[in-house]
Amino acid sequence: MNKLKEKMVEKNIYTRELSEKTRLDIARLSKIVNSLRMPNLEEIKRINKVLNLSLEMKDFKIDQERKNKFNQAIKAFNLVYEDAKNKTKGSVSCPACDKRLNYVKHYNGHIWAQCETENCIKFMQ
Ligand SMILES: [Zn+2]
Repeated sequence: MNKLKEKMVEKNIYTRELSEKTRLDIARLSKIVNSLRMPNLEEIKRINKVLNLSLEMKDFKIDQERKNKFNQAIKAFNLVYEDAKNKTKGSVSCPACDKRLNYVKHYNGHIWAQCETENCIKFMQ
C-alpha cells in the first residue's frame, strides 16, 4: 500500500470521490492509488490540496508485481474477448501461465473465464 492509499483509508475517502474533488480521470487516478502508475507533479499537487497532505514524488512507487498481474489480466481479457466474438465457449492460452484459459459467454454478453491453473486468472466481465 502506498502513502496515498494509506491516507485515503485513514480519511475514509474512495477513489471516485477523490477523482471528483481533484478532477482527475478516475481510471488514471485508480492506477496511481493502486501503485500501477506514477502520478505527475500536477496530479500530486491536486491530491495534496484536496486531502490536505504534502506527498512528494518519492512517496509513490510502482508495484511491479501488481502491475504485471494487472497487465496480464488485461491481456487475458482481450484475448478471450476476441476469441469469443463468434463462439459461446472456448479457450485461449493464458498470458500468465500458458495453460488453458477457458471461457463461457452467456446470452446476455457476459463472459466468465477461468484459467485451469489454480489461483491464476479468473474474471467475469
Ligand atoms: Zn493461467
